[in-house]
Amino acid sequence: MSGSKEVKHTPAQASLEALLVDLHNRGIRTNGVELSGRRGGAGPTDDKAFLLNGQAVMLPTLNEPAKYSPYSLEKNDSGYALKNEGMPSPVAAFLQEVKRPKFYDLQTEDGIPYNKIAVLHGADVLASTVIQSCIRWSPENRCKFCAIGHSLESGNTIARKQPKQLAEVVQAAEQLDGIKHITLTTGTPNEVDRGALYLTECVKEIRKVSELPIQVQCEPPEDDRFYQMLKKAGADTIGLHVESFDETVRKEMMPSKSSISLETYFQAFEKAVAVFGRNQVSTYVIIGLGEDMETTVAGCAKAAKLGVYPFVVPLRPLSGTMLADANPPTSEVMNEMYQRVSQILAQEKLSSAKSSAGCAKCGACSALPFFEKLASGAN
Ligand code: SF4
Repeated sequence: MSGSKEVKHTPAQASLEALLVDLHNRGIRTNGVELSGRRGGAGPTDDKAFLLNGQAVMLPTLNEPAKYSPYSLEKNDSGYALKNEGMPSPVAAFLQEVKRPKFYDLQTEDGIPYNKIAVLHGADVLASTVIQSCIRWSPENRCKFCAIGHSLESGNTIARKQPKQLAEVVQAAEQLDGIKHITLTTGTPNEVDRGALYLTECVKEIRKVSELPIQVQCEPPEDDRFYQMLKKAGADTIGLHVESFDETVRKEMMPSKSSISLETYFQAFEKAVAVFGRNQVSTYVIIGLGEDMETTVAGCAKAAKLGVYPFVVPLRPLSGTMLADANPPTSEVMNEMYQRVSQILAQEKLSSAKSSAGCAKCGACSALPFFEKLASGAN
């Protein structure tokens, strides 16, 4: 992969969906506008949450591609006008910054700031990496796109969020900022329960103070009973993130995690759907790692047939990761992928809207929910 500056993009077509695809890939130059983006950690680090014509989107503002993006922001009275090469965008696109949540100003009795325990994602999701370390986080073994160890090193977070601390933050974020659902992810602490046990403890404690829908995310645990435990504790949905359906890419990009075979993932999908139900199991699929498109679409179709929502996202080349200088996928590739996957979702009657919680519900890191509306004829 070569440097971000060399990527050839053709201009975005004049549609909101195509514009969002381009924005996700190329990011926005903020021209000195003060935004509250963050660096390091899991999830959409280096991104900033906006409302694009009212819908939550995470857009890169801090990574390498964003430095050279043709898109920039111009502040006006009610939000930001989007400029492309300094000219007004041909698509009516109105961006509002998602405000810094009030719960960020609070801390636990022992002095831990709430935003080191959980953060706001998108517009209304509270997200936490409950165990901020991973058995795969050695230079040889780590997934090349992952930044989980970096925010721990930078002091932006704490290594392990205690279940009681999480419950305290959930309560505050619900009361002060009106969060609507919760995403709990984890680094992988071992190869047996893979974090499911600790997630269960966290969910149980949150359930004492909140009824908000919760998604848990982990590698497929060895024993199927962990799905039952998570569900019984109060988790509503689960994310089992395959990251790629292309075996060659998995081996190259995830030298250690690829030891979990695709077959194991598909078996896990079936077992998880049996417990959580159709549309309440999702899997992250990263596009731009060098994967074969047909293999990827076939993998998404196979997962969707089982009732799993394939949450397709473009590679975010995150600062500090082994792919920091990689190119995001082109907008042409993403447009085609979104079109094909949204048609599969329509056939299988799966949707972001029907998911109760988590990334598939939030959708801010992907343009898939926008394409779903097109595929279902809603637009
Ligand atoms: S899609 Fe997932 S990772 Fe992205 S902002 Fe929403 S909850 Fe966070």
